[in-house]
Amino acid sequence: MTVQENLIYVQQEVEKACQRVNRSLDEITLVAVTKTVGIEKTTDVLQAGLVHLGENRNEGFLQKYEHFGNKATWHFIGSLQTRKVKEIVNEIDYLHSLDRLSLAKEIQKRATKSIRCFVQVKTSEEESKQGIAIDETIEFIHNLQQLDKIEVVGLMTMAPYTDDEMQIRSCFQMLRKLQKQVQDLKLSYAPCTELSMGMSNDYTIAIEEGATFIRLGTILVGKE
Ligand SMILES: *Cc1c(COP(=O)(O)O)cnc(C)c1O
Repeated sequence: MTVQENLIYVQQEVEKACQRVNRSLDEITLVAVTKTVGIEKTTDVLQAGLVHLGENRNEGFLQKYEHFGNKATWHFIGSLQTRKVKEIVNEIDYLHSLDRLSLAKEIQKRATKSIRCFVQVKTSEEESKQGIAIDETIEFIHNLQQLDKIEVVGLMTMAPYTDDEMQIRSCFQMLRKLQKQVQDLKLSYAPCTELSMGMSNDYTIAIEEGATFIRLGTILVGKE
């Protein structure tokens, strides 16, 4: 299957999910996760009309950034080591994985402009999942107040990899509830209007639960 063909399928599914919950298509930004593919496949992604690209490692991001530059809007979705912040922070457009204060402080030190960040929240017990605990998120966001290079545009989570739809849905519901709470604080540096949630196996559920950014890899680009 080509990226173009995969995209047609995904768009239909996105549209159906939107219709089920009365949402408008233009509320949803599709981030194409190109972390597993090379320049050639990424070119197909851009040619299919997708401009939001997601990468999770510095090396992969920089390779593609050097090649495509400002033809894409760049989302860094992986865990970011503090010492590697300086390599990428001024090239990316969004960071989806702000998960600790030391990272925020390093961004503050290295960024030459304000960086749009999602605070990554751990909504499941799965060991491998990173992020801030739900009951520590508000305090964490309060602690970002002095860091004027950090703009909290929203929250991000990864649901567990499971067939149990209710378990996935409940993670997304928790994230949305928390997002509303942060939004209601009306902090100038944390508008928190966005929800980054949903991957290849759960994006339709995420849309039903309010996602505004979905991050799709395998279902679009396959595996290389
Ligand atoms: C890899 C990755 C994705 C995309 O995963 P797929 O299941 O291939 O769609 C989304 N978000 C994050 C944080 C990832 O690391």
